[in-house]
Amino acid sequence: MADALIIGGGAIGLASAWTLAKHGLAVTVLERDVGSVHAASRAAAGMLSAQLESHPSEAMAALCLRGRERHATFLPELAEATGADLEYRTVGALRVAFSDEDAANLIDLVEAQRARGWEARIVSSAEARDLEPSLSACHSGAFFPGEAVVEPNRVVDALVRACIERGVTLRTGVLAAQVLHAGGRATGVLLHNGDRLAAGHVIVAGGAWSASLEGTGIEGKLRPIRGQMLELRHARTPSRLVEGPGAYLSPRTDGRMLVGSTLEDVGFERAVTVGAATQLLNAAVRLLPHLAEATLAAHWCGFRPATRDGLPLLGATSTGALAATGHHRNGIVLSAITADIVTALVTGKSSPVELTPFAPGRVLPLG
Ligand SMILES: Cc1cc2nc3c(=O)[nH]c(=O)nc-3n(C[C@H](O)[C@H](O)[C@H](O)COP(=O)(O)OP(=O)(O)OC[C@H]3O[C@@H](n4cnc5c(N)ncnc54)[C@H](O)[C@@H]3O)c2cc1C
Repeated sequence: MADALIIGGGAIGLASAWTLAKHGLAVTVLERDVGSVHAASRAAAGMLSAQLESHPSEAMAALCLRGRERHATFLPELAEATGADLEYRTVGALRVAFSDEDAANLIDLVEAQRARGWEARIVSSAEARDLEPSLSACHSGAFFPGEAVVEPNRVVDALVRACIERGVTLRTGVLAAQVLHAGGRATGVLLHNGDRLAAGHVIVAGGAWSASLEGTGIEGKLRPIRGQMLELRHARTPSRLVEGPGAYLSPRTDGRMLVGSTLEDVGFERAVTVGAATQLLNAAVRLLPHLAEATLAAHWCGFRPATRDGLPLLGATSTGALAATGHHRNGIVLSAITADIVTALVTGKSSPVELTPFAPGRVLPLG
């Protein structure tokens, strides 16, 4: 019998599995399809960002910053354990304003962050172009030097390898149906094929699909938000994260850059659309005009797990069962800190983060 049975082999489930296994627990991960491009973790831009946008609450802002900082040790450790180049780089992020209104919003964002003691500054148009020489003429910008980037597909692949090396049982091609309970506590998982798997703890980390499981205590609390992403190739990629109205650019080290993303409430509709591509490309070229000559290499979509208050569901749902999902736009930056939270709760320690704002049982606004 596993000490911990994790439903979902995305960034959240795998980071949790690896961390639990490092603490000596016997862990099994149940994953329908570890290579799915529609799982959010494989679709993501890989921004380890806490500062580019405002958050729904102070608790969420602090969690994202903590998540970003946690990667400074988690990702190098993962790279060392697997020999993988995760393309983890603290490149900083430049958010660009083209109008007085954008600029006023950036001043508010930077002031709120500086009041928390975070590093952020407003830059003039000329300073913005010093930071990113390919940038078009703009009104002004905001610079966040601590923001980082990673290649999420490499992170997921490395986590799979690290988990296997640590003795985690990764069961792919299996679909969990229900968290089983007996005597008031979770006892395991029922699979769609009728098999029952017993476990000391069950962790629900199924991303946007978590809501379709029974017995989780979070039924109806998540919905998928589709995000479309483009991959461009050009000899000149930005040297940092760049965001402007309608798009962000997340650079890679090999001439690729990811342009994202849409936020679409369309259920699990797996289509990519001409409208989204047009909107993202126009916004990207407005930021960096030379991208008009870039090659359009790929276009995909993934499904973010979203709650109605924009905060994740983190914590116990019953004795022996935990939710670790609902990370919406922030699941890559929050993967390592979520793994720490899951591990603390499973091993009977106190969470490194105050979890009341993220309690799975909280009442969510009506959708
Ligand atoms: C376009 C896009 C861009 C993004 N960019 C960023 C970014 O730059 N930075 C950032 O921090 N976040 C980003 N995000 C958000 C981030 O990707 C997600 O929050 C995060 O990946 C969620 O991870 P997860 O493990 O919870 O879910 P997923 O990655 O979706 O994994 C869930 C897994 O569970 C499996 N599963 C589900 N149900 C079952 C079941 N019943 N039985 C077995 N297996 C099951 C699925 O097959 C899936 O593999 C982005 C998301 C999208 C879509």
